[in-house]
Amino acid sequence: MSNLIQILPSHIANQIAAGEVIQRPASAVKELLENAVDAGASEIKLVVLDAGKSLIQVIDNGRGMHAEDAKNCFERHATSKISEIDDLFKIRTMGFRGEALASIAAVAQVELKTKRQEDEHGTWIEIENSKILKQEPVVCANGTSIAMKNLFFNVPARRNFLKSNSVEIRHITEEFIRVALAFPDVSFSLINEGEISFQLDRGTLKQRIVQLMGNAHGTKLVSVEEKTEYLEVKGFVGKPDTAKKTRGDQYLFVNERFVKNPYLTHAVVGSYEEMIAPGSFPFFALFIELDPARVDVNVHPTKQEIKFEDEKLVYTFIKSAIRHALAQFSISPALDFNLDPSIQHSDALNKPLTNEADQRVQSGGLYKSFIDRSQAHRIESSSNLKDWKSFFTSSNNSENSYQETFFQDQHLHQIKRSSSLELPPSAPVFQMNQTYIVFEQSNGITILHQQLAHQQVLFEKFNAAWQGKAIPVQQNLFPQAIQFSPADAQIIQHILPDLLQLGYQLEPFGNHAFLLQGIPADYATDNDQSVIEMILEDIKENTSSLHRGYKEKMAKTLARKHAVKPGTVLDDSTMRDLVFRLSLSLSGATHFDGKPLLVEVKKEYLSSVFGL
Ligand code: ADP
Ligand code: MG
Repeated sequence: MSNLIQILPSHIANQIAAGEVIQRPASAVKELLENAVDAGASEIKLVVLDAGKSLIQVIDNGRGMHAEDAKNCFERHATSKISEIDDLFKIRTMGFRGEALASIAAVAQVELKTKRQEDEHGTWIEIENSKILKQEPVVCANGTSIAMKNLFFNVPARRNFLKSNSVEIRHITEEFIRVALAFPDVSFSLINEGEISFQLDRGTLKQRIVQLMGNAHGTKLVSVEEKTEYLEVKGFVGKPDTAKKTRGDQYLFVNERFVKNPYLTHAVVGSYEEMIAPGSFPFFALFIELDPARVDVNVHPTKQEIKFEDEKLVYTFIKSAIRHALAQFSISPALDFNLDPSIQHSDALNKPLTNEADQRVQSGGLYKSFIDRSQAHRIESSSNLKDWKSFFTSSNNSENSYQETFFQDQHLHQIKRSSSLELPPSAPVFQMNQTYIVFEQSNGITILHQQLAHQQVLFEKFNAAWQGKAIPVQQNLFPQAIQFSPADAQIIQHILPDLLQLGYQLEPFGNHAFLLQGIPADYATDNDQSVIEMILEDIKENTSSLHRGYKEKMAKTLARKHAVKPGTVLDDSTMRDLVFRLSLSLSGATHFDGKPLLVEVKKEYLSSVFGL
């Protein structure tokens, strides 16, 4: 017997293929919403139960389907949007692979009701495991309603893989926002567990942004609009003072489709250079339009990644368009105009783009310097990461070799356990370089790094909050309102109890805003909002779910934020207090990042140096 190869049963093949398109409830939401938009609907309603795990229903008033189409739409490669291969390059509607409904029907129980205006009655279809269970005429409204029930009911492994409801609903909200932003002239609503989460009326893009992101955005938007024959960009970016520590509210659309493109995101953020603090991110909702033939949208199954024929040109164009917009609203007197005008007047951006012009722009020094500059910037920032280890190990020149022997000799230097630290009130202590705390111990001189030591002490204190030692809250006399995007607000809502343990008391204030009612007693920062935003960013960067280590990470973030910085003058009692608190520390003499906190110069070493 040598027939080892078997053909997979079609329902299994369907399930496997479906996995590519439908990874989680949010993927189905995206596909169904896009289909409704493609059907020309002016009103679209999304209903969700159990974070989409038990129900996702999309109801639209679009053109509906004839009975025959209603049956065929669930077939793989069934699409009304492509008939010839040429269409692939021209297609401007969003979905065009004819896979979404087939995939959904393979991994869920689906109920479809649909009716065209010209038909007397509609069609009702039930389908499960890719098999039609029922098809009959029905009286229903014009348009289409698709209900997808019990996602992955037949693929338990996948179902178990789904994240908690709060995480899945966050993904759903994010997809909903992306589609809703792209089509402000369609009214959308989202009903979650019977409650209206969003009710978005038709309006302008600006009105849509305000509806989604909160009123605070209304006066904070700068309009962007630049057009050439090759491409067009329009939309809104946030004024520099609204930049946040979180990367969240960044929306880039190409031909009305949401895309992820780190390179172009870099162009947007880069156009703010000098105007916003490093590590902060502006809001943007930008729409790029260009000939679909110059884009390959199909590089990724979920169609969010995108390749441009000439990515560098798009990069330069976007950067220039945003800088132009920011300058026009004269919100940045410090803007560097030396570079901009020539870019804005470069041939490539104002004339139809011939190949020749294209070449010229790319080889031009200005264009190069633009691109190079942004790359240099990236290299610069990574080499800026202070690598403490290299300080100890670098040994290529004679100056350093002294240092190296110094650190290698057990007698000369020893990192000491902090638990044996002792600083009697009568013993002198002084600050060196506004960075180190220097004092005498019975067997030598100890040098402590003030910032690292303080961070370690604070980390242990904040981290103890999880073992019942909550940080006391100090009530704010004038609670500050902090506005979040809907997706961020969901994370905050989820971690409210954790924040309270750490001394941050936030209360929901409606419309995705929270009131900062209290802050950790005895720990002042100049900007509590940015502390919260950093915590948020940590959580978002780490994983899409709240992973196990996130509480410790929160404690580290707070420690970094609250610790004294080098350059801060410390008085005598503050230095003694820090030494005392470090002596109680659990960590020995090691910082939570693994760096040493202190070094000691032993008296034996001094004797040997002086030949005694
Ligand atoms: P695609 O959108 O790539 O064509 P889908 O599987 O998402 O593939 O949909 C298959 C077809 O079903 C669509 O091309 C369209 O003709 C029809 N269809 C899907 N959803 C709707 C809807 N809400 N209203 C009308 N027709 C729809
Ligand atoms: Mg589709």
